[in-house]
Amino acid sequence: MPEEKRYHGRNGPQHARRPFPGGRSGPHRTHRDDHPVAGGSASGATGSSARDPREGGLAHAHGPTRDGRGGPHAAGRGRGGRPHRARSPEKRLVHHRASVEESEIIPPIGDAIRIIHLGGVEEVGRNMSLVEYKDDIIVIDLGFQFKEEHAPGIDYILPNTKYLEDRKDKIRAVVVTHGHLDHIGGAPYILGKIGNPKIYARLLTTLMIAKRQEEFPGEPNPNMEVVEKDATIKISENISLRFFAVTHTIPDAMGVIIDTPYGSVVHTGDLKLDHVNGIPTSDEEVRFKQFEKERVLLLMTDSTNVERPGFSIPESTVNNTIEKLVRDLPGRIILGSFASQLERAMKIIEFAERYGRKVIVEGRSMKANIAVAEAAGYLKHRKDTVIGLEEMDNYPPNKILILATGSQGEEFAALMRIANKTHKHIHLNKNDTVILSSSIVPGNERSVQNLKDRLSRLGAHIVHYQVSDIHSSGHANGDETLWIHKKINPRFFIPVHGYHYMHTVHADIAQKAGILSSHIVIPDNGMVIEIQDKGQKITALKEKAPSNMVMVDGFSVGDVQHVVLRDRQTLAQDGMFVVIAIVDMTTGRLRKSPDIISRGFVYLRESQELLREARFLVKKTIEASTAGARPINFDFARDKLTDDLSRFLLQKTAKRPIVIPVLLGV
Ligand SMILES: [Zn+2]
Repeated sequence: MPEEKRYHGRNGPQHARRPFPGGRSGPHRTHRDDHPVAGGSASGATGSSARDPREGGLAHAHGPTRDGRGGPHAAGRGRGGRPHRARSPEKRLVHHRASVEESEIIPPIGDAIRIIHLGGVEEVGRNMSLVEYKDDIIVIDLGFQFKEEHAPGIDYILPNTKYLEDRKDKIRAVVVTHGHLDHIGGAPYILGKIGNPKIYARLLTTLMIAKRQEEFPGEPNPNMEVVEKDATIKISENISLRFFAVTHTIPDAMGVIIDTPYGSVVHTGDLKLDHVNGIPTSDEEVRFKQFEKERVLLLMTDSTNVERPGFSIPESTVNNTIEKLVRDLPGRIILGSFASQLERAMKIIEFAERYGRKVIVEGRSMKANIAVAEAAGYLKHRKDTVIGLEEMDNYPPNKILILATGSQGEEFAALMRIANKTHKHIHLNKNDTVILSSSIVPGNERSVQNLKDRLSRLGAHIVHYQVSDIHSSGHANGDETLWIHKKINPRFFIPVHGYHYMHTVHADIAQKAGILSSHIVIPDNGMVIEIQDKGQKITALKEKAPSNMVMVDGFSVGDVQHVVLRDRQTLAQDGMFVVIAIVDMTTGRLRKSPDIISRGFVYLRESQELLREARFLVKKTIEASTAGARPINFDFARDKLTDDLSRFLLQKTAKRPIVIPVLLGV
């Protein structure tokens, strides 16, 4: 009877105190939690893992993130430093705050123009920069970055905003260049911390921010003003803002011109050029012509694709290719793309309508973005063009186009569920064509391969970007970037958006465009860069703004949560070892031989001797610690067992799995 049992999990007060629902069996393997086992039961379901040699990886320990971006983690690769188990539950709750008050030792700004990148210059993602002059700070973008490999289970990484938090009252404006998550994703976490300053952005961007904010009802409502691409906004006696449209992959992308007494500071945001065979279109010419008469003091521009030579494939080429496929393919089309490629998604819906196909949108982020584009009035189609999945069977296959997310092989995304045959309604056959209209994000090669393999096993024909012009990135290649530099022709230059190496490549391009190397600063996150002597000199101070990573794990935000990360690393490296023992509450003795479950530790079937010794140790330790004590002190027994068993396993295997004893009193 469950109510007669007393369950004692280790690892954190939550579990020590949380009553487990009766009758639930087995470790809850999909629980999105830093605690490896949320429930345990001695019911038959767990069994002894000598009979269950499964070696589970970490992939199943994490569910999808709230954006559906879960996906297989590359567990066990390149970890540094051997982690140790948390000794006391209290430690798990410690959030390590930013260490020293670094920002207080930064010298006063004087007459300089100060530029700090709080994120986005040592990574692709979490873009956030600030430009400060006298009493004014202008913030550019509020991005976040999706988790990195060395932070297992962390959902997002945020820019470190400590510098701004300390200077809240100087923030006059936040300019958001476009609606991609690496530019708006941090908004719900950051705005409240920096005093909810006014946001200036174009229409679609404001709608994207508002949409995201809906998921955070406790956070302040963003205070937003929609700007036109040619607007000028006077911020203070020293600063005004102007905007200019840029070509990217989402409508309403823009750059910002911050006018200062010493010239203008230009930040382009993400951009590429619309062009025909390497000749930018007249729209682009017009757009950049304004800089000819401009005294541009400083340029900050996108480095994401500068390593790639020449010009990127123009989106018009991609559109032509996709249009032909939509027109000519004889069967059903399943088109996988990034939700962030909103302009393309809009085009695809347009083509489908043109050639009489009905569109079914699969994937939460894609649905959300399309809804925003419709709300903005940017996406217009007949009411019956986009249909629900349940209506699919009312049409012949050659009248159907399914627009889906998951082209990176993300585990829980629509495309993978189709490939896995776990999708409820969409079943592939040899008459279907899958178009993967996306590149492979570095690090996702294996999962994309896996996706393609599974799709082709189901007989589907696959078209991907390496065989056909069905994808182009939204970032300028090297020669496009050179063209942009020549047009804007700044005095000083700071490359942004990307890793350090990309910035060095970008610096070479800038020099080719005629910028002196002494006028270029390659930034780090938190580096304090100043334009001094009335706009004559650029320099990086030796002092830094706080730049340690701030992570979002589920719904909690903190600086690196060491203990949680350490547990995840331990799990990835050495796995876990669960012991379930039933203790007779009157005698203190074990009712039967303890059950042992492990994942990612050793292959149990070949470790019978180890298991036998471990069982013996469990019995001996528990019975020794319960001897003579009535009522039995389960906490003590559990801690003693954890220590003894950890030491034993380390001696025998040179591994330190997370040891989780579950004692049941009956
Ligand atoms: Zn972007």
